[in-house]
Amino acid sequence: MSVAIVTGAGSGIGRAIALRLAKDGYKVVVNDFNLDAAQAVAREIGATAFPVQGDVSDEQDVARMVETCVAQFGQPTHLINNAGHIHQARFTDMKVSDFDRMIAVHLRGVFLCTHAVLPGMLERGEGVIVNMASQLGQIGGVELVHYSAAKAGIIGMTKALAREVSEQGVRVNAVAPGPINTPLVRALSQDWQDAKAAELPLGRFGEPDEVAGTVAFLCSSDAALFVGQTLSPNSGDVML
Ligand code: NAD
Repeated sequence: MSVAIVTGAGSGIGRAIALRLAKDGYKVVVNDFNLDAAQAVAREIGATAFPVQGDVSDEQDVARMVETCVAQFGQPTHLINNAGHIHQARFTDMKVSDFDRMIAVHLRGVFLCTHAVLPGMLERGEGVIVNMASQLGQIGGVELVHYSAAKAGIIGMTKALAREVSEQGVRVNAVAPGPINTPLVRALSQDWQDAKAAELPLGRFGEPDEVAGTVAFLCSSDAALFVGQTLSPNSGDVML
């Protein structure tokens, strides 16, 4: 039986991933910082989902999330490190606290959640971890030094861990979406959104379920040869 923990699953891409994995037959732990949001998504899925409030940057919250998963559904076979937030500031205006929070949620969050589930996966000799990066971790984004650094860090962490654990049956990969139509992007100015959509080869932003499809693929045995890769559902914005 497949049991997935999806972090930040109360909204946007994480919600779409939780719904997609549930549809594919997984039991799903729906984590979010926002309890109401996690509960709403778990209700939408039904009995095969369980909501867990928690901040991925908090070690105790993460431990409780994994314990709840084991108690409800058994050991997690899949971990989707998706939780994240955005914040824009010119580098010279960026507060140390903005930088620290960005690194804590994205980089420390991926570290803590992975640290909590990996020993069980290694013991069983199987597991899949998918980390949500961003194309801004590949090309950088204006007023997003902290976000770009955190996402580049996630790509580096993905590659390094994949080298360490693949032979023991755990596959680790990342996804680096372009602009996706979620509350996170809708918080950016309309001018930015219009200009960005116009320059995309595909001519439009992605939808959350289109990223969920990429994650579902990486979670599946069809992706057996994908190790330490970063897949790019990005409307053609960045071509590597
Ligand atoms: P979103 O704001 O719609 O959803 C993010 C969810 O994560 C929210 O429900 C929020 O409450 C939760 N969250 C935030 N901090 C958390 C924490 N510390 N612990 C637990 N939950 C937390 O955003 P989204 O667009 O769906 O983004 C999901 C992921 O995809 C993020 O990592 C984001 O950086 C990444 N991403 C998004 C885009 C995009 O264009 N939307 C592009 C590239 C990458």
